[in-house]
Amino acid sequence: MGEVRARLLGREVGVHTIGDLLYRFPYRYIDRTRMWQICEVDESMESTYIQLRCRVSGISFVGEGAKQRFIVEITDGTGSGEMVWFRGIKWIEKSIEVGREYIVFGRPTLYRSRLQLVHPDVELVEQALSRRRESGLQGIYSTTEKLAQAISAKSMYNIVCNAWKLVAADEHAFREVLPEALRTRNGLITLREAIYNIHFPQSAERLRAAEYRLKYEELLGVQLTIQARRSVRYARNDGFIFPRVGALFNKFYRENLPFMLTGAQQRVIKEIRADMVSGRQMNRLLQGDVGSGKTMVAFMSMLLAVDNGYQACIMAPTEILARQHYASMTRFAQGLNVRIAILTGASKAKERREALEGIASGEVDILIGTHALIEDRVKFSNLAYVVIDEQHRFGVEQRAKLWTKNLQPPHILVMTATPIPRTLAMSLYGDLEVSVIDELPPGRKPIATYHYHDSARLRMFGFLRKEIAKGRQVYIVYPLIKGSEKMDYKDLYDGFDSISRDFPLPEYRITVCHGKMKNDDKEAAMAQFKRGEADILIATSVIEVGVDVPNATVMVIESAERFGLSQLHQLRGRVGRGGEQSYCILMTGDKLSKEGRARLEAMCATNDGFRLSELDLKLRGAGDIHGTQQSGEAFELNIANLATDTQIMQITRDEAIAILEGDPQLELPHNRMWAELRDRYRRRERVDFSNIS
Ligand code: ADP
Ligand code: MG
Repeated sequence: MGEVRARLLGREVGVHTIGDLLYRFPYRYIDRTRMWQICEVDESMESTYIQLRCRVSGISFVGEGAKQRFIVEITDGTGSGEMVWFRGIKWIEKSIEVGREYIVFGRPTLYRSRLQLVHPDVELVEQALSRRRESGLQGIYSTTEKLAQAISAKSMYNIVCNAWKLVAADEHAFREVLPEALRTRNGLITLREAIYNIHFPQSAERLRAAEYRLKYEELLGVQLTIQARRSVRYARNDGFIFPRVGALFNKFYRENLPFMLTGAQQRVIKEIRADMVSGRQMNRLLQGDVGSGKTMVAFMSMLLAVDNGYQACIMAPTEILARQHYASMTRFAQGLNVRIAILTGASKAKERREALEGIASGEVDILIGTHALIEDRVKFSNLAYVVIDEQHRFGVEQRAKLWTKNLQPPHILVMTATPIPRTLAMSLYGDLEVSVIDELPPGRKPIATYHYHDSARLRMFGFLRKEIAKGRQVYIVYPLIKGSEKMDYKDLYDGFDSISRDFPLPEYRITVCHGKMKNDDKEAAMAQFKRGEADILIATSVIEVGVDVPNATVMVIESAERFGLSQLHQLRGRVGRGGEQSYCILMTGDKLSKEGRARLEAMCATNDGFRLSELDLKLRGAGDIHGTQQSGEAFELNIANLATDTQIMQITRDEAIAILEGDPQLELPHNRMWAELRDRYRRRERVDFSNIS
């Protein structure tokens, strides 16, 4: 390969050596035995590769100089189209002859409903057929805009072919890392076979075997990292011990508990308690759907800490939510000898002083707050338990600061209403334990969810009037505060104007809450709504998380196509908190993407957050799920997918645990190969993931 292209490969995709090149696997394969007919090509095929067999019926040059285009007319008896080149015209022109037949390979676009292929790969039919291909599967490698200009899909393939030929005979080239016994046990092909078949699949079956083997190797590396940390943490055995279920917990349970705990809540509290007497530091993720009662679990487990003479804190992602936790927890704690304080970025001088002094002197037992809690000046006298609410709102490093607030690491409970599969959670967050609340408090009616187009707006307004007449309250949520010209989404300002027209005072009382408002004003608006002094709350997604107003029964989401699935589900969770039937109305324009439509349909079909999150994973792929970016920082994965390869993750996890038994750090000589594998996929880590949940 020429020097220019080689340098480009290095710069654009980090390929510097033959090894780099061969460790860059195709991201998909196309079937080169499949020939399409021109009449079959339609819009749905626009970003996929197709292959045509067609005759050149004419050529022409359009434009001058740098703007010149070379256009080649093609036909295959079922239809016609054109190929277009903007660059490299001189070179391509030489290889095209009118009247001859070619195999054309490229991505189709329909330009004024006529097939067009820009810069396709072109090969004379005779030539193409003379080349023997074992399976017809050809790898497509990911590329960048710059790289694609210099190296076409076909040349990329040829470069990889040449690279393979150079090393094929070298027995040191792909030294096996997995011992034969392990390979046999797990049905894994050799590394060399896998590398060959991942690039040049001899059959669909060989390809699957190659993928499996390579994923296995990667995930075993990941698991060796995770499990090694786990054994270190277990061996440390320096967790705070809370031996007593004391006066506070018992008194609260007997006298203050406002409802019967659900079975799931009881089970989770037991799980937490077991951790707290184990001597190990707890590192637990609590997944529970919106409204499943995680706050009560947090509060009761904090009492366990206080009963044993320690302090606890809970960190919430928003001011509104922190205030709400403060209000409900002070209510729970009425008549108990427990002192609760709040600290947020908006705390006034007096509140701040009381919190800071109280927490430093030990007078305050429970501190509730926002990320203001992690500031350096917040010094606890004896913090032993940290609860983090809605963890996806916090960055890894932000959270990590909390566990340095005491010499000994505090127990950690992380709560989330956006569940992720267990194995994914474990790889994202290291070796944490997972608890699930899979049961809603009794008497909840499922929220009825409907999708309306904008044309049904008047009907929707009619429905809101009826609900308000019954004394209920309504949320209307907008994706934007102020619209931008580029985006055709409903915005809060316009919404407010039109709602105030259709719902005039004094019959209807409207209040507004959005992220750009001052904290005091936001709070005042929320408080007003909570007291029932407003019928309609117009808001942005600041109210997404946690807000609890049981009398609100309708959630209207404007431009719902704009929101992600988990966000929609969170927003919906703001209603259905009292005994009344509640409704969620998703408003959209008429134009919807396929994915957007799928999201709305899923919302209408189910109230189950776990099912929605699985679907979300399928729709978006793991890359977009919150947290996988973080895991991407920790592990450099080439082929395995933390979100979808859960079965291999499970298998390699067991294997890793067995390997680490007796040599948790892989320091013994005969374990060197495992240490190598562990380090191969691990990037330099900026934070210690063992404590990060
Ligand atoms: P989330 O899990 O979304 O944080 P919350 O803790 O805010 O849910 O609880 C939602 C609502 O359900 C609150 O009003 C809470 O008081 C109520 N709740 C919690 N547990 C129970 C229970 N066991 N029985 C009845 N109501 C409950
Ligand atoms: Mg909550």
